[in-house]
Order: sequence, then structure tokens, then C-alpha cells
Amino acid sequence: MMKGYLPIRFLNIFGVPVWIHWWALVVMGLLFVISLREPLLGIITICSYFGLILLHEAGHAYVARRLGYHPREIYLGLFHGYCVIDAPDNLRDECIIAWGGVLAQLVVAIPLIVLNQATPLAQLSFTGPIVVFLGFISLIVALFNLMPIRNLDGNKAWQLISIEINHFRNKAKAKRLTQDIVRRLKKRS
Ligand SMILES: [Zn+2]
Repeated sequence: MMKGYLPIRFLNIFGVPVWIHWWALVVMGLLFVISLREPLLGIITICSYFGLILLHEAGHAYVARRLGYHPREIYLGLFHGYCVIDAPDNLRDECIIAWGGVLAQLVVAIPLIVLNQATPLAQLSFTGPIVVFLGFISLIVALFNLMPIRNLDGNKAWQLISIEINHFRNKAKAKRLTQDIVRRLKKRS
């Protein structure tokens, strides 16, 4: 448990408990008060904003679980989240898990943006915030997060390419070696 976070008891993502920072709760409350004239729109806006952060962490949790790891907790902050996962035993898995967050965002953002181009989705008052936060802003955040900078997912995500290239090279090398040995054995017999 991290300091300053409170449990969201009704929320459970793939069996992972979700915690929220009290600052995020304060801002949620303020946003709600500001939007009291249109409470439904306020709630949709708040859910879309924090939904974006939750979606990203849920993506990490989902991929980690698929790889056989135990995601323990999801923390939601005001600007970003954090998913606690038992340390993967290899770098390749760590890199795949890094992709999970961004991919979850893109899986939602791209259809929303396409749908918005085809229909006036953003013009409708209640779907507007969903398109803005989970569509456009999410896409920008995802691309930013893919920059190869320390503390961003891009730092790990792009390492997957060199890991895979090495993997294939080693496999090809191993195959050549085996063929060589078989050939020599055949010559002898
Ligand atoms: Zn992430």
C-alpha cells in the first residue's frame, strides 16, 4: 500500500484492487461542484479523464496476467497511475508488459476517433468528453508515453525489437550449428 491512497472498494480490474490518491478525489469533487449545473456531463467528464489513466494501468495488468504474472495493485494519481506487478523474471516479458498500457489506450482511442470522423460523436454533449479524453487526448498521451525516455513506457517498449532480433539470430545460429553437427555425424557413419 502506498502513502496517500485510498481503496476504491467497488472497483476491481481482473481481480486487482484499485487505489486512488486523495488529491485525485479532491479534484474530482471540485470538478463535480463546478459542473453542478450539468451533473451528468460532469460525471462523464470525470470518468473519462480518470478512465484514461485506469485503462492504461488495466492494460499493463491484463498483459502481465496473460504472461502468468501477478498484478497486485493499481494506483490512480491525479496525472498518472501505477500498476504493481511481481517483478518479471526476464526483460522480454517486462517489455511486453510495457506495451500493454499503450495498446489498451490505442484499442479504445482509434475506434473512437474513427467513429468521430464518421459521425458527429463529439458534437453530442454527453459523448463529447469521452471522444476528447479517451480518443484524442489518450492518443497523444500514448504517443508521448512511447518516447524512449526513462520512467516512460517507451524506455522498455522499444527494447523489445532488439530482443526479438537477437532471439531470431540466436535461433538461426542454433539451427546452423545443429545442421553442421548432423552433417558431420552423417559423414562419419
Ligand atoms: Zn504504463
